[in-house]
Amino acid sequence: MRLPEIGAGGQARLAAAEVVVVGCGALGCTSSDLLARAGIGRMTLIDRDQVEWSNLHRQSLFSEADARAGTPKALAARERLLAANSSVEVEAVVADLRAMNVPALVPARAAVVVDATDNFETRYLLNDLCVKRGLPLVYGGVIGVRGMQATFAPGGPCLRCVFPEPPVPGSQATCESAGVLGPAVSVVGAMQAAATIRLVIEGTAPRELHEWDVWRGTSRALALGDARADCPTCAVRRFEFLDAPRGEDAARVCGSDAVQVWPTPEARVDLRALAERLSPHAAVEVGAVMVRAAIRDRPGVTLTVFADSRAIVRGAGGIEAARSLYARFVGC
Ligand SMILES: [Zn+2]
Repeated sequence: MRLPEIGAGGQARLAAAEVVVVGCGALGCTSSDLLARAGIGRMTLIDRDQVEWSNLHRQSLFSEADARAGTPKALAARERLLAANSSVEVEAVVADLRAMNVPALVPARAAVVVDATDNFETRYLLNDLCVKRGLPLVYGGVIGVRGMQATFAPGGPCLRCVFPEPPVPGSQATCESAGVLGPAVSVVGAMQAAATIRLVIEGTAPRELHEWDVWRGTSRALALGDARADCPTCAVRRFEFLDAPRGEDAARVCGSDAVQVWPTPEARVDLRALAERLSPHAAVEVGAVMVRAAIRDRPGVTLTVFADSRAIVRGAGGIEAARSLYARFVGC
């Protein structure tokens, strides 16, 4: 409150605000931690994955115990944020954001959406939703030793004004192929939190794309300019990602030998019944939101099935093998 940029009025605005952080990986950990400690009133965390050992160098809310237990990231993050500031309301949503569920999962009263995802499909989906609702989208990305941050707010360009199309799948380095330096995450996550705080207090954000190379200590800022008059999203208001989703039913989870399989997004799974069916074939654990099965005749292969019928298959050795294990043990 001593900061002239914030003051008592700004602090009260923060306490009354709700924000959504999509993705509880590296950027989601850093930005949600700073936002909780800044006194944001309510936060919704959305993430589909579980904590893994290979996350710990850059995902600052998680511990070895979380990796050992394979705790869903949104739940582990919620617990840590509440331990840091119990006056923040935190809702943890363990789900894969898709066109059919994004309008329901992003609360109508949210003031800002923080894009802390690791894939372009979700980014463009969030851009559609934010433009449609007139919400600012706080973008961040990190790969290797480099990071990038920009805020796409109403009145200025949207994500598609600046990056008209998502890259062709497989054409970009991913955190799986290139790795991520932890401090690069801290820089970008901190800038996302700062932009979010400013948006809540002032309603504006810098209209620039910032890039850092934290290894070489270099940075640059590119002016984003104005919205494009022919942008399909914010000018034409055609919401291609929201209205005509592309039908990917399986994808590699960034940074791990895990594949997400979700062929039937409308389906609900009876977790107890599934656990019973799997128990002859696997060592099975049943949780409140998932069933985890370590397959007996495939050492190292685990299948985690969530109540929305989505599964994360680990150690299968590829998308096709994961699909087939899903079909074999879960059925579709
Ligand atoms: Zn646009």
